Amino acid sequence: MSLGSPGPTLGVVGGGQLGRMLGEAAGPLGVEVVVSDPTPDCPAAPVVRDQVVGDFDDEAAIRDLGERADYLTFEIELADPDALERVADATGTPVHPAPDTLRVIQDKLVQKRRLGEAGVPVPAFRAVDTEAEFREALAELGYPAMLKAREGGYDGRGNVPVESPDDVTEAFAAIDGPAMVEEFVDFERELAVMGCLGDDEQETFPVTETVHREEILRETVSPARASPAVRERAREVTRDVLAVMEGRGVYGVELFERADGAVLLNEVAPRPHNSGHWTIEGCHTSQFEQHVRAVTGRPLGATERRVPTASANILCDVTGRQKVTLQGVDDALARDRLALHWYGKREGYRLRKMGHITRPAADDGRDPTTLLEATRAARDGLTFQE
Ligand code: ADP
Repeated sequence: MSLGSPGPTLGVVGGGQLGRMLGEAAGPLGVEVVVSDPTPDCPAAPVVRDQVVGDFDDEAAIRDLGERADYLTFEIELADPDALERVADATGTPVHPAPDTLRVIQDKLVQKRRLGEAGVPVPAFRAVDTEAEFREALAELGYPAMLKAREGGYDGRGNVPVESPDDVTEAFAAIDGPAMVEEFVDFERELAVMGCLGDDEQETFPVTETVHREEILRETVSPARASPAVRERAREVTRDVLAVMEGRGVYGVELFERADGAVLLNEVAPRPHNSGHWTIEGCHTSQFEQHVRAVTGRPLGATERRVPTASANILCDVTGRQKVTLQGVDDALARDRLALHWYGKREGYRLRKMGHITRPAADDGRDPTTLLEATRAARDGLTFQE
């Protein structure tokens, strides 16, 4: 494949932080990016060629994107697979990953069924349409359990833990629409692996340990503090997940490591993922560059880790929705090897992801626990002013 100037155009449905980092990674490859996003001046806007303003299911906006692009992808699961399919047919612009894979992933129940049937180890789960079914499922699965909205959940929104029979009615009422319930996995730690499907090739990135609080990802460290056997198992499970996925691109695979060393799938994201942000500084090829390479049909890059690397999310903590400024930036940037990624969101609200920091280890700080703690401390020095 040759490269001219301007190079090929990649259309991305969604222009949040993932679209922004895709835009940053596409530039050196000569790929121009156009995004569609409902928020004018979305986070990706300053670093991409253009933004089409439109909802993730606005077919006219997706069509506009398809007409201007040589390849189409999405950075958010709310992208409408039917619209993507029709636009691909009408414009001849290929969409990766496949809209049908997006459709499967959008429904947590369908996703778990499909992957479980393919032999991927998943927690025990049941479909829940009525409160009576919910009680029957809990009688089989036991307590505690996790009730999940089948569609539209993110950052733990849409998940309700159920501790005892007393919680059942309230938990069921808290979920809007169809749901599923699964056993509560008493995990040793959470792991994630970014996998990638290219044209006739595939890659997996080094295993990442992910730390969540209130079901939201807070920090990551790679290598994960799991045994080499568990890390190899995590990559194997990721390869089994990739075998079910259709279409080129990066897939974020979230996993549980149980105390007995078993690795279970939590869920898959058909796009770059928060647990892979550290690869920008930490790996020879970042997850964003890899996604651009994959979707545009280029060879995949090397996924080896350069050095042990940690990352920490900068989550907003103000009440209400308002303009915010970040304090402590110079102190953070003065730290050795600290990289800041600020997403440029015009407003903050509690627990909104506003940015992240990454720290590749220095030669004397390669221990993952030390690295994680130092990165967390650096992040905690960043505060929001209303
Ligand atoms: P979302 O799609 O909103 O990110 P997930 O289903 O991935 O939600 O859950 C978010 C977090 O909630 C997980 O990373 C994990 O910490 C916790 N969690 C989810 N499912 C389970 C489960 N079955 N057992 C224990 N913890 C769970």
